Amino acid sequence: MPLVSGKGLLQAAMQGRYALGSFNILNLEMVQGILEAAVEERSPVILAISQKAIDHAGLEQAAEMVKIAAGLTPVPVALHLDHGRDFRQAAVCLRGGFTSLMIDGSALSFDDNVAISRLVAEMAHALEVPVEGQLGRIAGKEDDIIVSEQKATMTDPQEARRFVELTGIDWLTVAVGSVHLLTSRTAQLDFDRITAIREAIGIPLVLHGGSGIPDEGVREAVARGICKINIATHLNRAFLAAISDALTANPQMVDPRVILGEGKRAITEATREKMRLFGSSGKA
Ligand SMILES: [Zn+2]
Repeated sequence: MPLVSGKGLLQAAMQGRYALGSFNILNLEMVQGILEAAVEERSPVILAISQKAIDHAGLEQAAEMVKIAAGLTPVPVALHLDHGRDFRQAAVCLRGGFTSLMIDGSALSFDDNVAISRLVAEMAHALEVPVEGQLGRIAGKEDDIIVSEQKATMTDPQEARRFVELTGIDWLTVAVGSVHLLTSRTAQLDFDRITAIREAIGIPLVLHGGSGIPDEGVREAVARGICKINIATHLNRAFLAAISDALTANPQMVDPRVILGEGKRAITEATREKMRLFGSSGKA
């Protein structure tokens, strides 16, 4: 089916008390691998493109690849800009058919974050596209955004309420203890903070750095009101490990399809596992 707006998907997740995976893609095999999992699990899914993925694949090419793949897929697929940085890029993505946008003003002052988030939300809402904002700084590395543990700041519930009122954003990324690009699953979340933010604002909450959170932490976060969980590192590692194993096992192999096919299968498996954990299986 054609791409769907992420708005209805997250609204349904919030009401149904489950979370949707937002999976970062950067090539054909990742798109196909994730969508195969979505079909097998009958799960709605968000495919996200980050700045580095845009640099790698080209914005138009990456977006068109997702659109074509979604058109061949019988479950709802949304196309999301991850960690958008500026107004111009948001506009280009809207023209490119993205069905949700993130504007990440979290490195700015509160007032400047409000200003850019409100501007992007006003523009996107004219086309009925939802916008994800971020308040609080998440530790770790995401593309070129590096935040040290000392510079990381948790999201304040009352400030979050003001931020949502002032900007009109649709979803809020919260900083509650998760870490970007964490290769061990050791992040400790502040669950009471999630509950306090949930009680302060009525829009879907988003958790980044989903790869580094233990399963029981993910379940608790979803129970407390997280509706979208971003996954990048987990799939990247599964893809590379499968390719590396396939090359080691077949050192004479000259057909990239055999090697990349193993990567794709690993993506499908890793995605299925997350969809079951998030509770989105069977919701399409
Ligand atoms: Zn992120």
